[in-house]
Amino acid sequence: MAVVELRDVSKIYPATVKGGAPVVAIDNVSLEVEAGDVYGIIGYSGAGKSTLVRLVNALERSTAGQILVNGRDIAGLPERELRPVRLDIGMIFQQFNLLGSRTVARNVAYPLEVAGHSKESRTARVAEMLDFVGLADKAGAYPDQLSGGQKQRVGIARALATQPSILLADEATSALDPETTQEVLALLKRVNREFGVTIIVITHEMDVIQTLATKVAVMDRGSVIERGDVFDVFSNPQQAASASFVSTVVKGVPSAAELEVLRARHAGRIVTLAFRDSSVDQAQVFGELAGAGVAFEVIYGGINEIQGRPFGHLTLSLTAPDDAAIDAALGRIRSLTTVTEAR
Ligand code: ADP
Repeated sequence: MAVVELRDVSKIYPATVKGGAPVVAIDNVSLEVEAGDVYGIIGYSGAGKSTLVRLVNALERSTAGQILVNGRDIAGLPERELRPVRLDIGMIFQQFNLLGSRTVARNVAYPLEVAGHSKESRTARVAEMLDFVGLADKAGAYPDQLSGGQKQRVGIARALATQPSILLADEATSALDPETTQEVLALLKRVNREFGVTIIVITHEMDVIQTLATKVAVMDRGSVIERGDVFDVFSNPQQAASASFVSTVVKGVPSAAELEVLRARHAGRIVTLAFRDSSVDQAQVFGELAGAGVAFEVIYGGINEIQGRPFGHLTLSLTAPDDAAIDAALGRIRSLTTVTEAR
C-alpha cells in the first residue's frame, strides 16, 4: 500500500509583490510512496521540493488535489484533525531546528509533551531514543554544546519520539561535512531498516541518493518530470531536464563550463558515452570506432556506484579524415549505449 499518495496536487502561492503573478510551486503532481521506501526528491533550487514535502505533513496546505497519508486524505482536514496525522510524520531539517533553551533530553521530549504522554512514558521513550542515536551521555547538554552531526542525531531522536511511520528529511545533511554526513546517513538507514519507517528525503547531494535512496523523483518547475529506481534514473535519465540535473551531481559528466575547456583543448568531435554496469560492452564500443577508422582520445570520465551497481561516463575526442566515418561509427554505437555529442 502507498503510505503517501499525491493525486493531482497543486500548490499556488499568492503573488509576493502587489500586482505580481501567483507562484505555481506544485503543478498537478501525482506521486506514490510505498511502505518502507526511501524516496529521494531531487531537482534544482526552486523546483518545488520543499513545498511538496511540506504538503505531506500539512505545514503547507494544498490548493488542489488529494494528499493521502496512510490512506486518509488530509488535503481538506481542519487544523485540529491534523494533530494525529502529524504525530505519525516526523521531520528533520538542514538547520536542525532544535530549541536552544532546552536540553537534548527535553528537545526529544517535546513532541511527547505535545502529544500528552505521561512523564514516565516520556522519560522512558527519551532514554530509548537517545540510546538509539548514540547520545545517551548528552541528555543534559544544550544544543550549542553539540557538533552539527550530534545536533542532527538529536533531531532524528526527536522526530522519531512519537514512533511515526513516516520521516521527512529536508536537506538534512547539507550543513554537515562528508564524514558526518555518512554517519547520519547510516543512522537514517537503520531507522528505515529497524523501525520500517518510510523516509522521504529532499537532497541535492549525490551521497544521500547513493547510500540511502531506493527510489527517486526529479522535480522541475513544480512538476515531477521523471521517477523510478535510483539506478535507472541516474544512469540513464530519460528527460533532458533530469539529465541536466543528474549531470551536476554524478561524477564523470562534464559541465557546460568544463566542456568549453575541453573543446578549446581538443580539435576532435566531443562525445560522452554512458556505461551501465555490465550491460554495455566497452570493447565493442571501441571496436566500432577503430573499425571505422576513427581515432579517439579519452578526455574526461568517472565511475559512480549506486546500491552496489557501477555506472560510468567517458568523454572522448574523436577524429577521422572523414566526418561521415564518425557519424557511421556513432550510429552503430547508439544501438549499444547512450551517446551525447557536445555541439
Ligand atoms: P525547492 O525546495 O525545490 O528549492 P521550493 O518548494 O522552496 O523549491 O519553492 C518552489 C517555488 O515556490 C519557488 O518559486 C519559490 O520561490 C516559491 N515559494 C516557496 N515558498 C513560498 C511562499 N511562502 N510564498 C511564495 N512563494 C513561495
